[in-house]
Amino acid sequence: MADAPIPVQADSPEARRYNRIRRWLGIADFGVAFVFLIVLLVHDAAWSGWLRDLAHRMGFGNYSLSLFMYLLLLLVISKVLSIGLDYYGFRLERQYRLSTQRFRSWLWDEIKGFLVGLVLGSIVVELLYFTIGQWPQYWWALAWVLFMALFIVMAQLAPVVLFPIFYKFEPLEDEDLRRRLVILSQRAGTRVRGVYRWRLSEKSKKANAALTGLGATRRIILADTLLDNYSPEEIEAVLAHELGHHVHRHILKSILVQAATTLAGFWAANWVLHYAIDQHLFEFVQISDFANLPLLALVCVVLSLLLMPVLNAYSRFNERQADRYAFESISSIEPFISSMNKLAAQNLAERSPSKWVEWFFQSHPSISRRLAAAEAWSRAQSANPHG
Ligand SMILES: [Zn+2]
Repeated sequence: MADAPIPVQADSPEARRYNRIRRWLGIADFGVAFVFLIVLLVHDAAWSGWLRDLAHRMGFGNYSLSLFMYLLLLLVISKVLSIGLDYYGFRLERQYRLSTQRFRSWLWDEIKGFLVGLVLGSIVVELLYFTIGQWPQYWWALAWVLFMALFIVMAQLAPVVLFPIFYKFEPLEDEDLRRRLVILSQRAGTRVRGVYRWRLSEKSKKANAALTGLGATRRIILADTLLDNYSPEEIEAVLAHELGHHVHRHILKSILVQAATTLAGFWAANWVLHYAIDQHLFEFVQISDFANLPLLALVCVVLSLLLMPVLNAYSRFNERQADRYAFESISSIEPFISSMNKLAAQNLAERSPSKWVEWFFQSHPSISRRLAAAEAWSRAQSANPHG
């Protein structure tokens, strides 16, 4: 049986429809943000300048306070523009019976998400315009250093400060699973600082697992929707995959990739900003005029769209590496395969999305590819058990 190739399981019309709608929702969200930024920047209307003047009045002429007010205005307007799509996304999850969340809980999450975005966004723009004001030519290099420092701090704080705003976490108490993890970790010659039970079931029926944090906060989180419905061997296979991310230092590598793309982004933003000012393309004439923030955001948005296929390809490479690590560290491939099948069904995932969808949108290889890789590995093992 182990030698038989797995049949490619066709996706249900329901799974295809659900994933297609989700993709279009993502594209619409992006489109709204893109058009909003363009409209703000149109020279003759000068809406960004109008908002800046309003922010200056709200901030009593104080630069930092006015900048905060300007950001607040931008975030409020963009939330008003996108709340309809957000609500549609919430309804979609309920319609496909993937969510257990009530409207009030969803609304509360939206409010918390907005406030978290406002706090993080304020730190970012204050740092940004501080460096622009102090070093108009080289701000981009200095801002990059500050941003990376902020990014590393946030990666450390996220599991203990950010995630608990939305979900509850508790240390995993299952003795059998802890013992399995210790054995897996020893085999990897490494130590994971903790495994946490993630109470996802309060909001969702989907299952998930992840390696999060950095340094002292690095931990594996496992959704209760997974812990309560999967066999110990299946959970072990999921743990082994997450441990694979740990062993291959994927978080650190992702930060390095992030550093390179952010540096390119800042350099491009600086170039565009100086060009726009030299050519009088927009209403703002000074580099420290924060009415140019939509232009900086636009550069980021365009760049992240262009880089998306590259970053997703890199992520899929890491996922394949973590999968291979899992194959090697578990005693049998079967639980890996059954856990993948369960996850696909539970999350209404597309097992075989079209090639271009996978290439552009997916951070993980498709389920059918991951299963095929597991089968191939298992066949190679049985052909050459000592290899
Ligand atoms: Zn993974």
